[in-house]
Amino acid sequence: MKFTDMGLSPEILEGISRLGFETPTPVQAAVIPAILNNSRDLVALAQTGTGKTAAFGLPILQMLNPEIKTPQTLILCPTRELCMQIARDLENFAACARGVRILAVYGGADIKPQLSAMVRGVDIVVATPGRMNDLLRRRRADFSKIKRVVLDEADEMLNMGFEEDLEAILSEVPEGAQTLLFSATMPRQVAAIAKKYMTDPEEITVGTRNAGAENISHEFVVVHAKDRYRALKRLADFYPEMYGIVFCRTRQETQDIADHLGKDGYKAESLHGDLTQQQRDRVMKKFRAREMQMLVATDVAARGLDVNDLTHVINYSLPDDLGSYTHRSGRTGRAGKAGVSIALINMREHHKVKCIEKQLGRKFVQRAVPTGANICEARLIGLMERLSQVSPEPGLIDEILPSLCKSLEGLSREELLRRFASLELQRMLDYYSKEPDINAETVHEAVGHAARKKQAAAGGLVELAMNIGKANRLSPKQLMNLVNVADRNSSVEIGRINITHLLSFFEVPRDAAQGVIDSFSKSLVDFEGRQVSVSLAGAGNPAKRDEKRTAHPYSPKDKNRKGGKNPGHWQK
Ligand code: AMP
Repeated sequence: MKFTDMGLSPEILEGISRLGFETPTPVQAAVIPAILNNSRDLVALAQTGTGKTAAFGLPILQMLNPEIKTPQTLILCPTRELCMQIARDLENFAACARGVRILAVYGGADIKPQLSAMVRGVDIVVATPGRMNDLLRRRRADFSKIKRVVLDEADEMLNMGFEEDLEAILSEVPEGAQTLLFSATMPRQVAAIAKKYMTDPEEITVGTRNAGAENISHEFVVVHAKDRYRALKRLADFYPEMYGIVFCRTRQETQDIADHLGKDGYKAESLHGDLTQQQRDRVMKKFRAREMQMLVATDVAARGLDVNDLTHVINYSLPDDLGSYTHRSGRTGRAGKAGVSIALINMREHHKVKCIEKQLGRKFVQRAVPTGANICEARLIGLMERLSQVSPEPGLIDEILPSLCKSLEGLSREELLRRFASLELQRMLDYYSKEPDINAETVHEAVGHAARKKQAAAGGLVELAMNIGKANRLSPKQLMNLVNVADRNSSVEIGRINITHLLSFFEVPRDAAQGVIDSFSKSLVDFEGRQVSVSLAGAGNPAKRDEKRTAHPYSPKDKNRKGGKNPGHWQK
């Protein structure tokens, strides 16, 4: 279905086309025609991030009557952030329609401007229940012409204790008004509200009831309780592009974790109920501007946050109920993007994962906490990829280049790279050379590149690295040919192949590894004008990679240059 087939007006279509909306999301395809074509009440089960604001917002805007001066639509939602977000979205959808007046009414802000805006006249009120009830009690809101009421994130409003406010507000709404209820989950309380205030509602479910979004990968790692924080740091180090929310259970834990991360040099801050509204706004502004990598939050504080493109949700501790888990994980994987929700659990918490799996109808994948070697290797490969992609501007650098070359005269290309890498990642290499594996149990599922190497080491395979990659347009088939060309006399079995931008990795049986390495150094194989060389991948012999890594080839030569004990300032 297309937006143009739904009966939306040209002004609305123009508004959403400016926002880049091309195809309706499933909830939009189901809900927009339902609202436009009949006045029946509606219950829609949909996650955050599925496009539900436009699903109710577009038809509501279209059906406003310009003759009426008092509010025609009331939208209730749980938090100030969500309230402001919905009002902003509606303004954007209506950017090409004339004169729609939208008012956001929420607590924690001066009530006077809200009161006077209400008196001046509005078409749509978007409100949090507490403040809305306050305005009603002051007799400043005229709800006599309300035609539609939207209850957005109804489960959250009830979780947050707004039941009484909701009941008081709904009793002021004229009979016969259409009620549209949106909720990610359908607990008993929500069903009760639906029963009490709605007449024969049509039920629309997008995805499965109470299920997480399809494009979220649900994962967990198992560590001893004392290693939880260490595991968090490792994940942040392994995924330097991580932009996520770390969920904790209590305000105290939230504050402690954020403080520790801050001290360890990570860009992280906390969001919880003890902060003033001003402090919350400041933290959220920084997080939205990506001046922060991790927002450490309690469930309540993170409700209604509209931040897109989160790569990860980390459950520092798992919540007790499915609703909270669904809301947490639903913060990532929005608008069709892929997202990862990782839980840090201890050995006694497997049952919690099983329980959520059962209710959610989705399987969790057990991951390994990256080891120091995994992290250093991933970061070095990332560094080399950045190096290969940078395109320096001509200018001052060219003037300095001759003297630079002179000062580094005599160093081979390999030696230069080795020194550069060691300089760039010195603190990380120092730190992780002393850090043990903290996985509390063996993991059989692969964690991409890193765990494959671990498996290979355990299973009699070793991984070799070749000095060419995608940048040289190397394909897996060509890699196998090169190995055969170099080592004509033996037909080595090749396991997994992983070609990155600059380097390639492939597995061979342990007893054949040295032969393959030697064959390349003897036979001078050439690929696209580059001499191909092969060495053991990562830190020397992979079988020993998790041992104390004093002999790491990239470890700093100068032992006096201690890098401090925390790796956080490696964050870019
Ligand atoms: P929501 O669930 O309403 O918070 O929407 C989540 C995100 O998806 C928001 O950033 C919207 O701007 C975006 N979005 C909603 N509908 C569409 C659509 N049809 N096409 C592309 N993006 C959309």
